Amino acid sequence: MENTNTACLDEGLDPTCFESSNDIGGLWRFKEQPEPGRANIYHSVVLNSSKEMMSFSDFPSPADFPNNMHHSEVLLYLRLYTQAFKLLPHIHFQKTVVSVRQRPDFSVTGQWEIETEEKPGQRETHVFDAVIVGSGHFTKPHLPLHDFPGIERFDGKYFHSWEYRNADSLQGKRVVVIGIGNSGGDIAVDISRVAEKAFETKLNRTFNHSLYGLQPQHGFFAQIPLVNDELPGRIISGRVQMRPNVKEFCDSSVVFVDGSIIDKVDVVVFATGYHYSFPFLPRDLQAKSGHRLRLYRHVFPPGMSRPTLAVVGFIHALGAINPLAEMQARWATCVFKDLIALPTQDAMLQSIEKDTATMHQSFAVSERNPLQVAYLPYMDSLAEQIGVRPNILWLLLKDVRLGLQVLLGPCTPYQFRLSGPGQWVGACETILTQWERVAQPFKTRVSPVPEPSPDHKMRLMMALSGVAALFCFCLHAKSSFCSVPPPLLTWRAL
Ligand SMILES: Cc1cc2nc3c(=O)[nH]c(=O)nc-3n(C[C@H](O)[C@H](O)[C@H](O)COP(=O)(O)OP(=O)(O)OC[C@H]3O[C@@H](n4cnc5c(N)ncnc54)[C@H](O)[C@@H]3O)c2cc1C
Repeated sequence: MENTNTACLDEGLDPTCFESSNDIGGLWRFKEQPEPGRANIYHSVVLNSSKEMMSFSDFPSPADFPNNMHHSEVLLYLRLYTQAFKLLPHIHFQKTVVSVRQRPDFSVTGQWEIETEEKPGQRETHVFDAVIVGSGHFTKPHLPLHDFPGIERFDGKYFHSWEYRNADSLQGKRVVVIGIGNSGGDIAVDISRVAEKAFETKLNRTFNHSLYGLQPQHGFFAQIPLVNDELPGRIISGRVQMRPNVKEFCDSSVVFVDGSIIDKVDVVVFATGYHYSFPFLPRDLQAKSGHRLRLYRHVFPPGMSRPTLAVVGFIHALGAINPLAEMQARWATCVFKDLIALPTQDAMLQSIEKDTATMHQSFAVSERNPLQVAYLPYMDSLAEQIGVRPNILWLLLKDVRLGLQVLLGPCTPYQFRLSGPGQWVGACETILTQWERVAQPFKTRVSPVPEPSPDHKMRLMMALSGVAALFCFCLHAKSSFCSVPPPLLTWRAL
């Protein structure tokens, strides 16, 4: 995780990053062949979050990059970031961390012994004052074959979405994609361009989700939504058919729970998610709360006499992971430096159990989707402790344009660099120009804008008055009863 190095450097720490592969980029580095033990993506992956919302807080994506970047552009962004912050000298490639253990004098020093392996049998031990684990969690495919009676006699081919690269070998084939997460949706669309037909076993207000077979059983905010603008088009043209759950496989047929059958299926793709795993961590640091790891604020294991180990990036929300992981890294380095004190072990345990209960009430969590936080309250709560939460009243007084952007605009990560530790002089300008960067990639053909007629002008005036009235009402309403804003909105209590 490139940003953990920067967080350490910002706090005057000297980071060493062990990376098992020979390059940066992690998940976003496309590999022609899937590499066991690593996250793998398919060729068509584009970000489902916008470039402004996924950027690190002091490094906006280039203006001419598309808003939903292809994975190659995300990798390029990470390369630019690594270069700008001179991170490469801190990264030791082709060193796999095989164990992380507390040293015998841990209660006094808080130090860790890290064992790395360069080649089989070629191991080294290193001692560090603190450890940040940022090893990702899309590495171990979940292939629940026992839930699919008859799969052992299935005549066709089947594989997990982790192995899927592109649809080249599926020309003219009948394909069933199992799973309706983001990967399942992307892969069904991809395959439907070349296959005889793709079948999906199970959001946009622009169409009837129920009619299209896309209506989720949970509420909209309860799980990471399927974001795919092309899927409805593929369904309406009959290239993708939505089906209910699979009951069983019979030779080359797939039988669904509603009794319907598809014959002569050539390929089944299991887009059935991942197991998380941290094989190098001591067992006692991997205790669970619900389905997730028992981590205070999703970062610190609570039982340590010295809080010198943090997990970063193991978090899901209705927002991009990069800014969340960056905030976690900034918070963790402050804890390492004793600038922030963690609560007592009992208080941390209580807080973890409370978080888990809230998560189970508010979101559709499961073993495959073990954790989910409300994006803005989580970011704000860590930012508050670091001392970088934007003070909106102060911003409004200082620069009304900036204050309004932070209050009413999207919660772009640059907001957390306006003041406090790690303040960045470019933050204000970057916020004020964020919509220009959003518009930039559209400017490949400039269309003339028609002159508004007097009638249009009158309607515009009326619309503006309406918006102003609504704004005044909302401010009033918010200050009276909206102490916790909805997760996707940037509005905070003043
Ligand atoms: C198909 C797909 C699409 C996604 N799309 C989005 C999206 O649109 N927006 C979004 O915010 N998120 C998305 N995600 C989530 C994505 O995983 C995160 O956004 C982010 O890339 C995770 O970064 P990371 O550094 O934590 O993990 P990774 O990118 O997986 O990097 C982990 C690194 O750790 C290294 N490593 C692992 N174990 C060891 C070890 N023992 N020793 C040494 N090195 C090790 C790996 O080699 C790797 O380089 C997507 C995930 C998938 C699978």
